Amino acid sequence: MDKTKIETLIEEVPKVLFINGQWQEADGGKQTEVINPATGQVIAHVANAGEKETEQAITAAEKAFPKWSGLTADERGAWLHKMADAIRGAAKDLAVVMTIEQGKPLNQAEAEILSGAACLDWNAEEVKRLKGETIPGPTGELLLVQHEPLGVVAAITPWNFPSAMITRKMAPAIAVGNTVVLKPSPETPLSALALMALFDKIGLPAGVVNIVTGDAKAIGGVLTADNRVRKLTFTGSTAVGKMLFAQSADTVKKLSLELGGHAPFIVFEDANVDKVVADLVAAKFRNNGQVCTSPNRIFVHESIQATFTEKLVSAVEQVKIANGLDENASAGPLIREDAIEKIDKQLDDAKGKGAKILSGGERLTGAEFDDGYFYKPTVITGITKEMAIFYEETFGPVLPIITFNEDDEVIEAANDTLYGLASYFYTNDIGRIAEVGRRLQYGMVGVNSINISYPQTPFGGVKHSGFGRENGAQGLSDYIQVKFLNITYKK
Ligand code: ADP
Repeated sequence: MDKTKIETLIEEVPKVLFINGQWQEADGGKQTEVINPATGQVIAHVANAGEKETEQAITAAEKAFPKWSGLTADERGAWLHKMADAIRGAAKDLAVVMTIEQGKPLNQAEAEILSGAACLDWNAEEVKRLKGETIPGPTGELLLVQHEPLGVVAAITPWNFPSAMITRKMAPAIAVGNTVVLKPSPETPLSALALMALFDKIGLPAGVVNIVTGDAKAIGGVLTADNRVRKLTFTGSTAVGKMLFAQSADTVKKLSLELGGHAPFIVFEDANVDKVVADLVAAKFRNNGQVCTSPNRIFVHESIQATFTEKLVSAVEQVKIANGLDENASAGPLIREDAIEKIDKQLDDAKGKGAKILSGGERLTGAEFDDGYFYKPTVITGITKEMAIFYEETFGPVLPIITFNEDDEVIEAANDTLYGLASYFYTNDIGRIAEVGRRLQYGMVGVNSINISYPQTPFGGVKHSGFGRENGAQGLSDYIQVKFLNITYKK
């Protein structure tokens, strides 16, 4: 791609805060760097805000709330459709911005951006079906259950899906009439600001969505402590999620926490190995394994282990790691140097305890890779519970293989984690599908499928993977509160 075109696209993204419909610098003009993980180069400087600007953003959202929540569902829905159209019209340019700051291949970036448009469209329609209830009162009174918005919603989002994590929070939140203060990830602020610039261009009313980039601790501190913020929705690490949970106790905030995962991927002996390998490679190398639903522990029945592993290694060796701008790239770099250090540490620990690397197992080197954070696609076998990788989320291109013999044994091992987000299993036995599906302690189960995320289905976890759901009717209802009215009208 033309270098000047890329530079122009990055140049055009506002690098400042968006509060009450105005672009503004952080206090004192403070800024932070944004790095391209494929080259290690600084590509932009964005405003570094703190407590004061966060309070301003909350005030703006609070001010916008009465009018926005006073619109009809149809009127707000129309805005969401307009936002979706704007995203679709700019998807290719937004994808370039995302690839430069996040690293994923352009086609994955564009697919993510389009999924955000689909999410806005879906919520635009679903809000029109947010029905309440009428209940016949025992003495003839009219008992009503109505839904209403919460008020100001704070959203804190991660870098792995810099656009979709915003739209999946913002779409249901504003569809039902809330207003939003968004704090995107410091690694990927440009995707968030570029989205906001689009919404500004189509004239979304001031204060409905506000963006504050900068000091995570200071911004998070104000967002959690302020009583005007009635909900916090967060996607990120379990460690930060627990902290925000505790910080929100004092103001009794409603919360949605979408935290880490450690997905089991179980291959039973009757599965179609070719399909499984194709699905597994597609799922694992999407965003280079930096996904909370990424298959992280691959359980393979002993009787098919040899064939499966051989086919998997050969498929993994076809994965092309490259700068995401390369149109042949199937995966890009990792986000930061410490992501590489974490993988090396897990692999060293496993190797020291008897595991064997079948492919990869080290950083990618060479002219095009040396300045970025690239890692070889890795298959490692002989994994046991003594190894850290069995219990720790990896967030990288590593496929650890564990063999099993019995259904009970693999279900127990799959559930042997504090996480409970996504899980997958492959079998054609209907009895086993029902039984394993029932017993897996996860919020989402892919049965002969890696697809667990749609605008119309609930996404979220159990145990330390968090609570609350995004997408689907359940996702929308996480952004409302219930009000009961007794209307006694008989004289
Ligand atoms: P990762 O380690 O993958 O970057 P984090 O959980 O640290 O995941 O980050 C997810 C989001 O949480 C980011 O927007 C980040 O800035 C934010 N964050 C990190 N620490 C805090 C904090 N103390 N308070 C509020 N937000 C935070």
